[in-house]
Amino acid sequence: MSYARVLCVGLAGVAGHLVEVEADLSAGLPALALTGLPDTALNEARDRVRAAVVNSGRDWPNRRITVNLLPAALPKHGSAFDLAIAAAVLAGAGELPPAPLDRVVLLGELGLDGTVRPVRGVLPMVAAAVRAGITRVIVPAGNAREATVVPGVTVRAVDTLHRLVEFARGEAALLDPPDAPETTEPPGPDLADVAGQEIGRYALEIAAAGGHHLALFGPPGSGKTMLAERLPSILPELDDDAALEVTALQSIAGVLPPDGRLIRRPPFQAPHHSSSLAALVGGGSGLIRPGALSLAHRGVLFLDEVPEMSRGTLQALRQPLESGRVVLSRARGTTEYPARAQLVVAANPCPCASPAGDHACQCTPLVRRRYLGKLSGPLLDRIDMKIHLLPVRAAQLTVATEPAEPSTAVAVRVARARTAAAARWATGGWRVNAEVPGHRLRRPPWRLPPRDTAVLHDALEIGVLSARGFDRCLRLAWTIADLDGRDRPAVGDVCEAYQLRMGEPTTRAAA
Ligand SMILES: [Zn+2]
Repeated sequence: MSYARVLCVGLAGVAGHLVEVEADLSAGLPALALTGLPDTALNEARDRVRAAVVNSGRDWPNRRITVNLLPAALPKHGSAFDLAIAAAVLAGAGELPPAPLDRVVLLGELGLDGTVRPVRGVLPMVAAAVRAGITRVIVPAGNAREATVVPGVTVRAVDTLHRLVEFARGEAALLDPPDAPETTEPPGPDLADVAGQEIGRYALEIAAAGGHHLALFGPPGSGKTMLAERLPSILPELDDDAALEVTALQSIAGVLPPDGRLIRRPPFQAPHHSSSLAALVGGGSGLIRPGALSLAHRGVLFLDEVPEMSRGTLQALRQPLESGRVVLSRARGTTEYPARAQLVVAANPCPCASPAGDHACQCTPLVRRRYLGKLSGPLLDRIDMKIHLLPVRAAQLTVATEPAEPSTAVAVRVARARTAAAARWATGGWRVNAEVPGHRLRRPPWRLPPRDTAVLHDALEIGVLSARGFDRCLRLAWTIADLDGRDRPAVGDVCEAYQLRMGEPTTRAAA
């Protein structure tokens, strides 16, 4: 027999598709040709596969070999095809009986010595195989744990190409994946650690309950980062679909923890302000890596010292934040990753970043205005709440010294508010208030009486509030009412929403 076919999976974004790897061996000058739109990393498979086969103690067939990847029209990236290519060639040459590999997906990169190396994106690849009706996969030993996260599939692992050949010949067994780790995710930072900052904590609770974007302003040491880091701790755990999606993105990025457990806590990403555009939105060659924006999908993207970020970087964030997805274009086609993240931005009041009250800051009002002015415009318009934090010292003086409420207590209120919102918007399929289109809030039956929204109409009239800002205030007002356990916002909620939006001290903070 001089023809064989085995199965593999190609990834396009987080979506995968079944790829048939066929090998044909014919008489002619010894050569290996790869067809079916392979990228550079895949083209190098030619040399890796040959060396791996020879170093596994097998003869490389001295014939003209054509390896074709089907369907040809779909782009294929990365090195996960190596194992399938080697198996197809060896099966075509009669070195490996093909029957045991029938309807089995093979994934893995080959080292020159014949070892099978872990690859990125195994989880979404296995998920795609299952969707295509495949129930058995063979993956690199280093990826076996993460592959078992996908329900409905039997996972076996290989460490060497030699073992795969022996298995097909019935001379050796494949490896079992390691057992599920006993441990659960270590607890993240807790709100109990945040002293004072009543208004900051309150804004964080609203942000969590309604999925709203938040901006925190304050001098260094006022707790901006502390608060932002604790937002995931009051968000609900990810449901099965979201958990699989988030874990798949980490798998593609190659940042999945080695125990490969399903990620249940909403992710938190805090890229540095000097991060490259590729680090932020995604990029690279081969299997394109998702950026921080996609790794924060279903979680929190925290941008500290945001006025220090370049204008181009901030511009690049706008579209994905609006659409909830990142589209990366390459010569060989486009890759799309989900990016529905909740944004928290933080900024110092001035570029010198000296702690308030030290009188060390020499920045003039113009310099300060210019600094924060970099933030203004389209990005700031998309942020629902702007909160000014006091230095902790001053804040602590003004609050009682009772222990701060832990995250678990806040999370209960957040979950209750989210349940109320999800039930209300069930017909539209929106989960949180931030997702509801503005026109739905401005029309019956959800329109609020004009006398209750007068403050917003007045602000719109004199131009201090944009049309987008108007809708964002309405969404905030609904969240405030949800947290309070009322079924409709009252005039007080609208006013508070307006104050949070405009960065004014709220009535609640003064109380
Ligand atoms: Zn200054």
